[in-house]
Amino acid sequence: MFELLKIDAHTQARLGRLTTKHGVIDTPVFMPVGTQGSVKALDPRELVEMGTQIILGNTYHLYIRPGLEIIAQAGGLHKFITWPGPILTDSGGFQVFSLAKIRKIKAHGVEFRSHLDGTLLFLGPKEAMEIQRTLGSDIAMVFDDCPPHTATAKDVRAAVERTLRWAKECREQPRANGQMVFGIVQGGSHAALREECAKALVQMKFDGYAIGGVSVGEPEPEMMKAVEYTTPFLPEDQPRYAMGLGTPAQMVELVARGVDMFDCVLPTRVARNGTAFTRKGTVSIKAGFNKADFRPIEEGCECYACRNFTRAYLRHLLNVEEILGLRMVSVHNSHMYLKVMEDIRTHIAAGTFAEFRKEFIASYVPTQRVLSMRGQTMVRGADE
Ligand SMILES: [Zn+2]
Repeated sequence: MFELLKIDAHTQARLGRLTTKHGVIDTPVFMPVGTQGSVKALDPRELVEMGTQIILGNTYHLYIRPGLEIIAQAGGLHKFITWPGPILTDSGGFQVFSLAKIRKIKAHGVEFRSHLDGTLLFLGPKEAMEIQRTLGSDIAMVFDDCPPHTATAKDVRAAVERTLRWAKECREQPRANGQMVFGIVQGGSHAALREECAKALVQMKFDGYAIGGVSVGEPEPEMMKAVEYTTPFLPEDQPRYAMGLGTPAQMVELVARGVDMFDCVLPTRVARNGTAFTRKGTVSIKAGFNKADFRPIEEGCECYACRNFTRAYLRHLLNVEEILGLRMVSVHNSHMYLKVMEDIRTHIAAGTFAEFRKEFIASYVPTQRVLSMRGQTMVRGADE
C-alpha cells in the first residue's frame, strides 16, 4: 500500500506513494482538517482545485454530532460530505483527553462527558474502531492516551502503557473494507519511552505509524526531539504521520527528519483572524498597512484569492466581517500549505531538497503568536 520511491541523499526526507481505497496519495502530503465533516470555509470543489489529496475527519466530533446513525444512513462519511478522495479519521483519543470532561479512565476506554451538553459517553478502542468502521475512512487511527506536555514522567509512562494496550485491542477489531489502521507513538519528550512505544507498536504490525503527543502546547525544540526520538524505530517502508503539525517551516524541518504526512488546523484557524501564511512568514491582512495595497496576498501565488483579489479589498471584507474575506484567506492559506508540500516533493525528486530547505527556512520568519496557537486545543479547549 505504501511505496517508498526515494530517500534524499542529504537529509532523511522521503518521497512516497500511498494507495488507498479512494485514491493514490503522493507523499510528503498535507491533509486539510475537516473536523466536523467540512474543511472550515472551503467546499470540496475548491479543495480539489487546490490539489488536496486527502482530508481529515474526526471521530469524537462526528460521533457527538450528527451521530453515527445519520452517517450510516447516508452511506458513510465520503457520501455524507460529498468528498470523493481519501479520508483519514482521528480516533477521538486526542479530543477525549483535551476537550471532554473525563469522569473515569477505565481498562477498556474513557468515560467522559460531552463538551457540548454534558451527556455521559464512553469511548475506547472497541468503540473508536467501530465508529471509524461506520464512517468508512480510508485510514483509521488507533485510540490512544494523549497526555498534555505538562504531564509528569510517571503520567507519560502510564499513557504509553495504556496506549499500547489499547492499540492491541484496536488491532483486533474488524475494519471497513480496504481500511488501513495506523498506530500512534506516545512518550512525550522522553527518548526511552518513545523508543519503547514505537518498538512495541511496530511488533503489532500496523499499516503506518503516527507520532502523537506533539502539538500539545510543547515548545518547538521538544516537538522536534519527540519526532527524532521516534523515527529511528519506525519501519522505512511504511508511512509516518506527525499529528497536528505544524507551521510551514516546521513541516519543512519535519520532512527533513523523515515525516511523510501532516495535518494542521492553523491554515484555516488563523484565516479566521485575518492572518495569511506566506513564504516569508505570516502577515495580518487586517493590518492598516494593507489599506491601499492593491497587490495580492502573496506575489506569484496561483490560488484563486491571489489571482482575483487585492489585500486592500480582503482587508475591507475582513473589517466589515464579510464571509468572503475569511473564505479567501482560508483558500490562500490552504493552497499555500499544499503548494509547499508539492514543492517539497518536486525538490526531493530532483535531489535539491537540502537547498530548498535552507532557502525556505532562511526566508521564513515565524510569528510567536501563530506558534502559540498550534497547541491551543490542548491548552484552551478550542473548537477543533
Ligand atoms: Zn494565494
